Amino acid sequence: MSTFSALQLHPSLLQGLKDLGFARPTPIQGEAIPPALEGKDVLACAMTGSGKTYAFLLPILHQLITKPRGHTRALVLTPTRELAAQILESFNDVAVHTPLTGAAVFGGVGMGPQEHAFRTGVDVMIATPGRLLDHFRAPYAKLDHLEYLVLDEADRMLDMGFLPEIKKVLRHLPSKRRQTLFFSATMPPPIAALTQEMLHKPVTLNLQRQAAPAKGITQAVYPVSQDLKSALLVALLKRGDMPQALVFTRTKHRANRLASQLVTAGIKAERIHGNRSQSQRTQALAGFKDGAYQVLVATDIAARGIDVEALGHVVNFDVPVAPEDYIHRVGRTARAEATGEAFTFVSPEEENELRDIERAIKKSLPRVTVPDFDYTAKPQVKLEVPIAERIAEIRKKKAEDRARAAEKAARRTAAQEAEAARRAQKEQRQQSIAGQPSRGPARKRSGPARGAAPSGGGGGARGGSGPSRGNAPSRGNGPSRGGRNDSPYKG
Ligand code: ADP
Ligand code: MG
Repeated sequence: MSTFSALQLHPSLLQGLKDLGFARPTPIQGEAIPPALEGKDVLACAMTGSGKTYAFLLPILHQLITKPRGHTRALVLTPTRELAAQILESFNDVAVHTPLTGAAVFGGVGMGPQEHAFRTGVDVMIATPGRLLDHFRAPYAKLDHLEYLVLDEADRMLDMGFLPEIKKVLRHLPSKRRQTLFFSATMPPPIAALTQEMLHKPVTLNLQRQAAPAKGITQAVYPVSQDLKSALLVALLKRGDMPQALVFTRTKHRANRLASQLVTAGIKAERIHGNRSQSQRTQALAGFKDGAYQVLVATDIAARGIDVEALGHVVNFDVPVAPEDYIHRVGRTARAEATGEAFTFVSPEEENELRDIERAIKKSLPRVTVPDFDYTAKPQVKLEVPIAERIAEIRKKKAEDRARAAEKAARRTAAQEAEAARRAQKEQRQQSIAGQPSRGPARKRSGPARGAAPSGGGGGARGGSGPSRGNAPSRGNGPSRGGRNDSPYKG
């Protein structure tokens, strides 16, 4: 397929593509657009960065242009907010010369403007499943005129546990026959089953022939101890090897710590992960795109499918656990026509994961050592204190607090006892001066049982407010907070 005009797309779309500077369709576009223009269902497997967005948008927009406005006729389901926003951006770019309207519907932002999109009937709605279902509870959210449905990154939605949501969404859509375009990088059995359910005599395209990152990417491995990874990254950035880099870490915690270490080292860096608010993520991404940040540190899912034009470098700060994630991440560079480099930092403990990746891509990756970098240096700051150590530290501190509180309580009791005893004696003295016999209560108060409390003070205090109060916060702050990890991904 040599040109877009050979695909006989509407002239206003061709103008949009020309504005974008796209000379010709990518292979998946060349194969998917013609059958989709004929109204056929399409099932396509194609790797990240192959141009799937326009493979489904162009044929749908072409068909929508000549229809009346005012009803949502196309729905694109995609796993993350970032992808939804990005697809909307692609829509706006290519549809600029058409009367078509589009809106993105995802969580983390207000429902109001999205409700408006339903009420006005934007032509194309791009949604994450969770937020879409939230809207479906309201009477305004009807998609009765739907004619086109796209599933983008279906396997990713499966990984993220969205399959039940997708099925629920399907139940809300009108039952009349529609055109479905289904995109997935891989075809695990539950996804294959879903395609059976959703597609009608689909044209099947498989451009996933070899599991390998896009061509044009130089991949290299940097063996380095865990503790020196930050220093190595700083060294590579300061050498000027990487004008911009998207850096992946294994956890949100590591992303936070690494970003702040980079900033401390004088590098402009931001981070993006599931615990950050939508506006923080948008701001970080925009700043990275326009060059305000040299480095964007990300966890895998938050950055899934993020497209940063002409992104030269991806750094796997940690080795991805699944080979498939490696391919996805590395696919972030060298999209479509550009070239890029992907560096993976490998500590001795991560060699096994690396071997799995090399097996999956059927290639052993060159190992690079950086001249002038001191691989034997003692790290100045640890990237993270292991969780067990952190918990032990918190426990120790709590125990100390408790001991101190108990001691104090004991001291207070002892002082009170002494004071009581003194007063009782005084009273007694006064009473005997007055010639009256001494009476029980005072003596009882100062009795030996009470007097013994100070020495057994720990025991006495334990019944009180000390430890039970001390325990509650530590339980609240500790590991349980780390466990509340997944909800922000829910779109
Ligand atoms: P995928 O969804 O397959 O991961 P995208 O649709 O996000 O890939 O496209 C990847 C990148 O390629 C985007 O930056 C997009 O603008 C660019 N692109 C898409 N189609 C073309 C084309 N025909 N020519 C050049 N670049 C393209
Ligand atoms: Mg995509």
